[in-house]
Amino acid sequence: MLDVATIRKDFPILSRKVNGKPLVYLDNAATSQTPQQVIDVIVDYYSIYNANIHRGVHTLSQEATDKYEEARHKIQAHFNAEKAHEIIFTSGTTHSINLVANGFASLIQKGDEVIVSALEHHSNIVPWQMLCEKTGATLKVIPMNEEGELVMSDYDNLLSNKTKLVFVNHISNALGTINPIEEIIKKAHHVGAAVLVDGAQACPHIKPDVQKLDVDFYVVSAHKMCGPTGVGMLYGKETWLNKLPPYQGGGEMIAEVTFEETTYADLPHKFEAGTPNICGGIAFGAAIDYMNSIGFDNIATYENELLDYATKKLLEIDGLRIYGNTKNKTSVISFNVGNIHPYDIGSIVDKLGIAVRTGHHCAQPIMDYYKIPGTVRASFAFYNTFKEVDTFVDAVKRAVQMLS
Ligand SMILES: *Cc1c(COP(=O)(O)O)cnc(C)c1O
Repeated sequence: MLDVATIRKDFPILSRKVNGKPLVYLDNAATSQTPQQVIDVIVDYYSIYNANIHRGVHTLSQEATDKYEEARHKIQAHFNAEKAHEIIFTSGTTHSINLVANGFASLIQKGDEVIVSALEHHSNIVPWQMLCEKTGATLKVIPMNEEGELVMSDYDNLLSNKTKLVFVNHISNALGTINPIEEIIKKAHHVGAAVLVDGAQACPHIKPDVQKLDVDFYVVSAHKMCGPTGVGMLYGKETWLNKLPPYQGGGEMIAEVTFEETTYADLPHKFEAGTPNICGGIAFGAAIDYMNSIGFDNIATYENELLDYATKKLLEIDGLRIYGNTKNKTSVISFNVGNIHPYDIGSIVDKLGIAVRTGHHCAQPIMDYYKIPGTVRASFAFYNTFKEVDTFVDAVKRAVQMLS
């Protein structure tokens, strides 16, 4: 069992007030909060050993390089990548997906097909549309059902020897659905297609094993798992990363440069042009350490209880509808009450100190499916409490009274 009261003391922001009320932070699917253990690492970096990496012979540069590469190894161990150079530091999920989509422009052509799911975040849709525009490849969509699940029999029909790539999220940020990525990967490989899994929403809740999944690319953002913004990773199988051309040109990613010809550096540096977010990368490693010290099994058990409790309490409100009712979901609740606009509920509960997200959650195709402009989304983390759920449900009741 988690000692949530003690855990909450690690997060300075959780003791602040918003609009005169104690903050109830239920927007974890947008970004997670940062524990003191990670804040300390950021302060230490800038206070003690701020320097550029991989270049300097001086002591500070060595220290910074060692810490940065140590973080890469932590990330490798956490996601169980076979090799450290299969972990590419990026600025986050969006950057990682664009890197892969851009690289595939030289590997696919007109007549090829790529498959996306109906449950994607815009950042796992738009880069692929741009790829299709550039290459003439065709984008196919795995449809969803009322429960917010992918229709897997339709996926079977979309796959063929024309399929070159499948990209799907591990967990939907808008509905919380956990997608059957093992099955999706296996079937894609059967027709020779590669698979990219967007793990941005999965990484705060579960610990994926990229080798066991046999996934070709797995991408995350540190800020969804207690790390800072502006840093994330691309995991790619070595064979794929060798096939992809570099994304950006610049310093750090080259072996040799003349005006006649440039040769590229080995992995991972081939994809890491320019000075990276050094402090962010090191803090990402610290965030992984922190989350593992809490334990992903403990996190899952606790968050499931919180999700069940919040679902039950919210459904007591007349006219409240939850979108995404699959059994396989994590701690996200997307809902509307009657015809009340989600923004109005969001604004009123904010006055009561509660942070939730309202709108389309960067997943407009899902909102279109349900024919709604958006939802109110409450998303929970291991540091949220049952009492906070009560406060939230009371606030929604109050908002509904005021608005109807
Ligand atoms: C947050 C999120 C993204 C985008 O992550 P960035 O950090 O903004 O790049 C993509 N996909 C999913 C499922 C997300 O939850």
